[in-house]
Amino acid sequence: MRLTKTNLMAGLQCPKHLHLMIRHKEHASKTKTPASITGEVVEEHAEREFSDGITVKRFGGDDPFEQTQHLLDDSSVETIFQAAFTANDVEVFVDVLQRVGDQWDLIEIKAATSVKDHFIDDVSIQAKTAEQAGLAINRIKLMHVNNQFVYQGDHDYDGLFIQEDITDKVKARWSVVPKNVEDFKQVLAGPEPEVHITGHCKQPYLCEFRQYCETVDTKYPVGLLPRGHRIVPTLLANGITDIRDIPFDMLNSDNHIRVRNVTIEGKAELLPEAGEILKQLDYPRYYLDFESIQFAIPIWEGTQPYQQLPFQWSCHIENENGDLEHEEFLDVSGNDPRQDFAEALVKTCKEDGPIIVYNQAFEKMVIRSLAEEFSDLSSQLLALNERIFDLLPIVQTYYYHPDMRGSWSIKKVLPCLAPDLKYSDLGDVQDGTQAQQSYLDIIRDMRSTDGKEKLTQDLLSYCKLDTLAMVEISKSLVKQSMTED
Ligand code: SF4
Repeated sequence: MRLTKTNLMAGLQCPKHLHLMIRHKEHASKTKTPASITGEVVEEHAEREFSDGITVKRFGGDDPFEQTQHLLDDSSVETIFQAAFTANDVEVFVDVLQRVGDQWDLIEIKAATSVKDHFIDDVSIQAKTAEQAGLAINRIKLMHVNNQFVYQGDHDYDGLFIQEDITDKVKARWSVVPKNVEDFKQVLAGPEPEVHITGHCKQPYLCEFRQYCETVDTKYPVGLLPRGHRIVPTLLANGITDIRDIPFDMLNSDNHIRVRNVTIEGKAELLPEAGEILKQLDYPRYYLDFESIQFAIPIWEGTQPYQQLPFQWSCHIENENGDLEHEEFLDVSGNDPRQDFAEALVKTCKEDGPIIVYNQAFEKMVIRSLAEEFSDLSSQLLALNERIFDLLPIVQTYYYHPDMRGSWSIKKVLPCLAPDLKYSDLGDVQDGTQAQQSYLDIIRDMRSTDGKEKLTQDLLSYCKLDTLAMVEISKSLVKQSMTED
């Protein structure tokens, strides 16, 4: 069996990741990063910078390794995309090869905006395998997105990419590749490695087996301790894998002690301050949530790679008499939605009353950037930021339930405080990633008319639930605080 670069990168992150990827793929979570922000779209654009390139077909043609060899041998070929090499039981596909005399520049394309350390490992695997297969390498480069680029329209993407020479960095590291391959073969020949969740599960990428590993040993693995990257390895080294088994004197952080104690107790802890603070908020109360998208390759004039671009909001307005109104905005025309988004927002939020959000940094940042973009709305938008009240720190400081399993995300808190409201009751949009993908599918016309209509309704329902969730969480905290009194 041949290993791929993806397999080897998984092995570098964690031997169990590699083992599960090959032996138990069925345990992987299905969540996918939207195609707007993945390498696929970036690669497609980057390849346009090499007008004379010929692509090696991975499927449906001759053997890709033979195709590559023919192209390498043909002196009229200057550029090859997806050149295939195999050596030492590893196969790789190189994004771009450019002929330089008798040698080749090897270019790896990344959707990021800078050279990250793990890219050096990634390219080392490509380059070492290609070299072992006989490729004469001149320079090794990484081509990435230029985050200073501003799209001026008319499909003019001149300046979108930057190439950095990483030859020395790669050559300093590539000698370990054959040894790693041998180690990984041993991992695959053995049983599932015993590795527990720690900080490495998110570095350099969020592991697709996290859900599986979170529940395989115990419902409350120590890796769930929030910001536990220092203490978790110590606990594991001492054979402690379950939060409930942590001796009290091993913890220094008040939050870790709270999570441990509440988990052992098996029931929620709510401090009365939560209700007292929330009761004091004025009316009307505006519960607000945004959905946004980032394009690696900007599609709207005046925007930059990875800029947060809001396309949807939901707002529940709670009046003093208990009445609840709902307003919303969603533009699926495919045009830049920001001006209409901002105008409708200012109109709905009027001039008084707290604007309640969950984790204010994102909403405040979006509003600030809209204020910079649309000078005629600037003062009204910035005034909204002055009224923002963040619900997250209230929940974080005064509430914890064992079922939240170390997280205060709204999706973890809601089932504990308002179990009748469920994201799982929604249609095809049940989280932020699905919201982004659905928005993209709609604006790119990837669905039938009916399909687009259904997805639009699903998007509206999803964002609406986010703000209704805040209403119910607030009410429940107030109500339960009074009961605790
Ligand atoms: S979740 Fe963590 S421990 Fe589990 S396979 Fe992935 S990296 Fe390894």
